[in-house]
Amino acid sequence: MANEGYADTQLLINGEWCDAESGKTIDVVNPATGKVIGHVAHAGTADLERALSAAQHGFETWRKVSAYERAAIMRRAASLVRERVDAIARLMTQEQGKPLFEARAEVTAAADIIEWFADEGRRVYGRIVPPRNLAAQQTVVKEPVGPVAAFTPWNFPVNQVVRKLSAALATGCSFLVKAPEETPASPAALLRAFVDAGTPAGVIGLVYGDPAEISAHLIAHPVIRKVTFTGSTPVGKQLAALAGQHMKRATMELGGHAPVIVAEDADIALAVKAAGAAKFRNAGQVCISPTRFLVHNSIREAFTHALVAHAQGLKVGDGLTDGTTLGPLANARRLSAMAKVIEDARATGATVATGGERIGSEGNFFAPTVLTDVSLNADVFNNEPFGPVAAIRGFDALEDAIDEANRLRYGLAGYAFTRSFKNVHLLTQRLEVGMLWINQPATPFPEMPFGGVKDSGYGSEGGPEALEAYLVTKSVTVTAV
Ligand code: NAD
Repeated sequence: MANEGYADTQLLINGEWCDAESGKTIDVVNPATGKVIGHVAHAGTADLERALSAAQHGFETWRKVSAYERAAIMRRAASLVRERVDAIARLMTQEQGKPLFEARAEVTAAADIIEWFADEGRRVYGRIVPPRNLAAQQTVVKEPVGPVAAFTPWNFPVNQVVRKLSAALATGCSFLVKAPEETPASPAALLRAFVDAGTPAGVIGLVYGDPAEISAHLIAHPVIRKVTFTGSTPVGKQLAALAGQHMKRATMELGGHAPVIVAEDADIALAVKAAGAAKFRNAGQVCISPTRFLVHNSIREAFTHALVAHAQGLKVGDGLTDGTTLGPLANARRLSAMAKVIEDARATGATVATGGERIGSEGNFFAPTVLTDVSLNADVFNNEPFGPVAAIRGFDALEDAIDEANRLRYGLAGYAFTRSFKNVHLLTQRLEVGMLWINQPATPFPEMPFGGVKDSGYGSEGGPEALEAYLVTKSVTVTAV
């Protein structure tokens, strides 16, 4: 039942849903069928200028709304998101491909994220600093940084927007997002919940179009005071450079290449269940997806066997079909990227233990894949594969596995499985990652910082740190006369 209830997506400018002034649109394709299911408005410069002036005006309005009232509006938006979970999830599955249960989980998590930030926004405290001159009072005040430009990708169409949006709104910033052209309807439905909840006109804006044109225009524009981007490391570096050139605050949530260290004393069943589920979630198109499986040689065979069985047990199909556990890749670019990754792995000596090829000729289906004996030179062990591919290598000493984990320029997520406190201590101290999950799957709850180190970017999208990124500090000293 593809194309069910899928409508065209418009821009949101100054509280109004509208087409681009030029009338230009972009096709939206269902990755399970390869068919066009709708269109999204393609903003031009005139639309962007209107959106920017609305964001400026929206900021002046929103910063004067109390944190208490902002939280109330955000909580209303969260309730609307919860009421609309089914409808939003169906839009997401049709445009992005992920199984419906994953889309539902993403939308439900969005409501939770909004609520957490709504509450945390009421606890943005300044401080009073003991003065040297007792006639003076020294205070430190936190203020919203100003209108925010956000750029978000297609892998989590709602989640990638909602973390940025919630932190911006909770701190009193206005927010203009260029959401993904390939998956436009579900993020638009998220913003609609905020409009319907009573967010004043101009406080939130939504545009689509040519990503490079829009980012160049918005980042350089004097109205914009903060830039936040999620996407690939190469694009992140370009945008960070542009933000630097215009002295704009920036948060960069970029690519990853998560190591999974399975120590000699690991619970193998747990490791396969947790890391296997994480690997194939959203067909591996996840920045925190486990990719380099580093398994102690004494258990490598048993682990590989179990991971292969896990992969073969997945049900590949249209995300709207009951029972599907692995949907199509989100776009045709990923299919050719996967073909190259597998060809290169084979050429550099890897064995394809399962999968390794496209399924069928309609839609972007790719078999869940496990590679063994992977060379350190293989592309899959060096560049983010962003697909349903697990690559396994063995190790003898934990220190060597840690060195391998730290070898790449990426430093986003890391996973480890071990029963030993000594190993946990070593892993915690030495792994160069922004997030580490031991003996469990990833749990990126809003109360925990979310972000990377090294080429995986900077800044955080969770915890109180996420709000800090949208705040500036004013130091005020007053002397009584
Ligand atoms: P890409 O690198 O061109 O684009 C990645 C994202 O950045 C897209 O959402 C795109 O619209 C946006 N983008 C690209 N150029 C931009 C610009 N100049 N200004 C603003 N936004 C821009 O390629 P792609 O084919 O869409 O994705 C490929 C790679 O991107 C993947 O292999 C993966 O490494 C990475 N990616 C990462 C995430 C993440 O969550 N960190 C999400 C999606 C894609």
